[in-house]
Amino acid sequence: MSMPDADVLIAGAGPTGLMLASELALAGIDVAIVERRASQELAGSRAGGLHARTIEVLDQRGIADRFLSEGQVAQVAGFAGTRLDISDFPTRHNYGLGLWQNHIERILAGWVAELAVTIYRGREATGFTQDETGVDVALSDGQSLRADYLVGCDGGRSLIRKAAGIAFPGWDPTTSSLLAEVEMAEQPELGIHRNAFGVHSFGKVKYEIRDGEIVYMDGGPVGVMVTEQHVGPTTEPTLRDLSEALIAVCGTDYGIHSPTWVSRFTDMTRQAASYRKGRVLLAGDAAHVHAPDGGQGLNIGVQDAVNLGWKLAQVVKGTSPESLLDSYHAERHPIAARVLRNTMASVVLRRPDERTKALRDTMSELLGMDEPRRRRRMPDLDLVTADGPLRVFTLLHDARPVLLNLGEPGGFDITPWADRVHLIDAKCVGRWELPALGVVTAPTAALIRPDGHVAWVGDHADLGLPDALTTWFGPPTAA
Ligand SMILES: Cc1cc2nc3c(=O)[nH]c(=O)nc-3n(C[C@H](O)[C@H](O)[C@H](O)COP(=O)(O)OP(=O)(O)OC[C@H]3O[C@@H](n4cnc5c(N)ncnc54)[C@H](O)[C@@H]3O)c2cc1C
Repeated sequence: MSMPDADVLIAGAGPTGLMLASELALAGIDVAIVERRASQELAGSRAGGLHARTIEVLDQRGIADRFLSEGQVAQVAGFAGTRLDISDFPTRHNYGLGLWQNHIERILAGWVAELAVTIYRGREATGFTQDETGVDVALSDGQSLRADYLVGCDGGRSLIRKAAGIAFPGWDPTTSSLLAEVEMAEQPELGIHRNAFGVHSFGKVKYEIRDGEIVYMDGGPVGVMVTEQHVGPTTEPTLRDLSEALIAVCGTDYGIHSPTWVSRFTDMTRQAASYRKGRVLLAGDAAHVHAPDGGQGLNIGVQDAVNLGWKLAQVVKGTSPESLLDSYHAERHPIAARVLRNTMASVVLRRPDERTKALRDTMSELLGMDEPRRRRRMPDLDLVTADGPLRVFTLLHDARPVLLNLGEPGGFDITPWADRVHLIDAKCVGRWELPALGVVTAPTAALIRPDGHVAWVGDHADLGLPDALTTWFGPPTAA
């Protein structure tokens, strides 16, 4: 057994791995990433943006503006083609953000670099063995790294998941589509089209947003999305595959040539049976894959990371028992299971026949009705403290738990947790507004987890606070 090279090793520097590394580094954990790609460059477009909740968690770390300043704010939430306007949600980010994944990764990687995380680029994790005190990870360059914990953020084909022997039950694909960026001799009609074969679309890669409208630039490559007649093979798709799919759907391939890239996506839907095996955990696509409908994969991967990061940090530091890690699976597995269900339903509603269209229209009508949208997340209230005004999210920038006392200053004593939990006396000047419930009376105090969820609300007389502190942030330090 050798000395650890890091407290935590992450396989994969995609969005999930980058976010997790930042969370751990903020918590003072020695974390390193092993990444197959030689640079952060990404072939293909993949995710098109961020949903409101992801923007909120980035805001909790003080970096939302880095993304907002580069993307296009829009109402992007929806289901099966029905837009859901969230502009009445009580959040500062009542919208989504259009921003391609290569930019999201570049910005995240820049933040990770500021936090001085080591990234071993251009090499793969090829296997691991774990014992009672750590994990030895074999790399493709023959080296081996040891860490207390290993997290597989290595995408849908995750080697870490397979090597851990974690089952990945679910459903094989029923449909596949090709995505590509190509030059074309003839100009197709730009935009999204539906016909008997399904959905296909063409869009100029180069465009500008003027007064909220997309204005395409002349010339340059065209982004293509086309549904294949039959589920394509798992091999890398070619220009010929694209040509055949276009001819089948449009009667012509528009003289495609000079591809920048061609890729295939399917509605394969699978989820890891367990997010943890001993000292090995899974997050992001390594834990769940599904159709891209609704643009959710990257978003839930980043949110997995925010749920796991602070818990793993506390377990590594020894402030919390290992059992805290079980709450990661307990909280995040059902969420991805819902996303899997939701995307499967959305894919079914994509079918072009009249009966499915009737179902789609009915769903659309039903979605127009109000439904309760509940959550237990801390609203980003405006506060006044002895040091002046600030927002709740500002208190979460360093990814540490906060006991927010809105009652009598000095009313709480949490000395046994003072090394871990930031106690702040404040007055709330704004309104407490919760989805579906509307304006509610502010509680005397709230215990906020680093991921922004509320662990406890109550007042001085409430005996539940020590329990909540112990459950989430470890046992009290002896006096
Ligand atoms: C067409 C399409 C459209 C999409 N649109 C959206 C969208 O609009 N919104 C959204 O939220 N999501 C979308 N997604 C999903 C999104 O792209 C993924 O969910 C997201 O990339 C997952 O991030 P990740 O970090 O978990 O995995 P990945 O992005 O797959 O990253 C895994 C990383 O691990 C590295 N790696 C793999 N194996 C190893 C190894 N053995 N050792 C070391 N490194 C390794 C890889 O090089 C990669 O960098 C879309 C996906 C597709 C295909």
